[in-house]
Amino acid sequence: MTARRLVRVEYRIVSKKLVIVGGVAGGATAAARARRLDESAEIVLIERGREVSFANCGLPYHIGGEIPRRSALFVQTADGLMERFALDVRTRTEVTRIDRAARQVQVRDLTDGREYTEAYEALLLSPGAIPVIPPLPGVDHPRACTLRNMPDMDRIKKLVDDGARSAIVIGGGFIGLEVVESLRRRDLDVTLVELLPQVMPNLDPEVAAPLQTELRRHGVTLHLADAVTALADDSGRVRAQLKSGTALTADLVVLAVGVRPESDLARAAGLELTERGAIVVDEHMRTSDPHIYAVGDAVQVRDPVLGEPTQVPLAGPANRQARIAVDHIFGRPARYHGALGTSIVRVFNVTAAATGASEKRLRARGVPFRKVYVHRGHHAGYFPGAQVLMIKLLFTPDDGRILGAQVVGPAGVDKRIDVLATAIHAGFTVADLEDLELAYAPPYGAAKDPVNIAGYVAGNALRGDEDFVYAEELDDARRGDWTIIDVREPAEYQAGHIPGAILMPLGQVREGWEDIPRDKPLALYCTLGQRAYYATRILRAKGLRPRNIAGGLLTYNLVHANHTPPTSTCREM
Ligand code: FAD
Repeated sequence: MTARRLVRVEYRIVSKKLVIVGGVAGGATAAARARRLDESAEIVLIERGREVSFANCGLPYHIGGEIPRRSALFVQTADGLMERFALDVRTRTEVTRIDRAARQVQVRDLTDGREYTEAYEALLLSPGAIPVIPPLPGVDHPRACTLRNMPDMDRIKKLVDDGARSAIVIGGGFIGLEVVESLRRRDLDVTLVELLPQVMPNLDPEVAAPLQTELRRHGVTLHLADAVTALADDSGRVRAQLKSGTALTADLVVLAVGVRPESDLARAAGLELTERGAIVVDEHMRTSDPHIYAVGDAVQVRDPVLGEPTQVPLAGPANRQARIAVDHIFGRPARYHGALGTSIVRVFNVTAAATGASEKRLRARGVPFRKVYVHRGHHAGYFPGAQVLMIKLLFTPDDGRILGAQVVGPAGVDKRIDVLATAIHAGFTVADLEDLELAYAPPYGAAKDPVNIAGYVAGNALRGDEDFVYAEELDDARRGDWTIIDVREPAEYQAGHIPGAILMPLGQVREGWEDIPRDKPLALYCTLGQRAYYATRILRAKGLRPRNIAGGLLTYNLVHANHTPPTSTCREM
């Protein structure tokens, strides 16, 4: 996308009566924005729960004790919103029906059951998403919980405070993982059951692998590629039967298998929905009824990389959509450009983040792409405490436009993913990453930031300076088709190497290259990929066509699920 130019325009405010359904992320943002735009508008914010504007994203951290004060989760209270923004906030109040012809909603006061109607000129729906409850026998067990709001959090926390010693978490997405970590922090024995062979389904498997290692390192038992088929009571505890035949018993079960849009209200009003129940909106966040807008977890948006519809139930998109919808309601030409799905999760000491398309999604859609891996210190290697992070970069094979990126490591992940998300938003190519001037002082980064390096490595690939072979092409069945040279030092080789690899340290390549067998294609590797790149350049000058194993031994080990966390490998930088 091209840079947007802002010009000062005097907007003519047409005062409106705006009714907002849902008072948390999208709804509360919309209400505050509306007031900022129009001091005289009538703004009614209706929320079913007791609280408005609470931090759903903080719920797991209160369970785990990292956010000790429950009250810290209230970004704003109903009274605070009323006072600061002169809003009409109605909590414990539910909108039960939309009468589109009359432009009014049917409202129920949940404290006394009173029903009434409320007229609107513009209606904004931000009803969020509901946790999916799989149709399992026994799923209504009193110790089986979901986590969406404060009462859910209070329920789980009370079970833990009252002495729960063990938990089963079903689902390894970001909410599941945050719950797992929080319960481990409270010293529970935690077992995670995930249907897929990896946690965090939005990540590619080799990027998720360090999270799995970290979970195990912290005593979490993982049952990947398995599923809970039934829950049952076991003397007041919960027994979970797994598809694999394993039976587990715990004091508490948390179901975190995903969310679905809370769109029954919209459906009943005849608004256009997708097959999966998301509310269809245009680029102004307008539904199929021009007087009704919808934002947040309940809507379908556009994936700007793949150009297809998607759902991104995350707080950032909900907030931005709310602002755009309200701007449009009050006469500004605001447009939503889609959601990249930029996300980040912390699992104990490892953080993983993603933006744009994953390799899995590109493959599933048959989109041509190339990829590189970079392992670099999160700051200068000579400054104490440098830790290795991995960037996986996906880009178009013709012009190098960035399609997606994933970053994993103990530190510095957040800043790299945000740069890469900005780069995708701006329509950058890998050549632009080479050019980025990023902040550097030894405690923070490197003169060549890992993002620059990712640009260089991808640029090398596109310019033909470096050819890659990928770890998955070197599985047990195909590895023998290659001559594999390990260019590290003998001690490193002894500590572990790719089966069948021949040792030829980088320092010996210039003299020893003629000894390299020529009967098979040649693949070189080191720990991170950098020494192998130097070696491939030497061999190319001798007329050979070597390939570098992308991302070195670290990526090879991640792909072949043999992950050992890197130790002092920053010195290769
Ligand atoms: P919500 O914030 O869920 O608000 C919807 C509100 O509408 C609800 O309070 C509901 O009671 C109310 N409502 C629904 N129907 C009606 C009705 N008919 N009448 C009245 N009220 C109604 N996102 C991130 O980006 N990062 C994170 O780290 C992160 N962590 C999360 C952790 C947890 C445990 C959870 C549950 C979510 C997390 N999210 C995170 C997701 C993020 O919270 C949501 O994407 C965001 O809140 C969506 O905003 P929303 O306005 O669409 O819905």
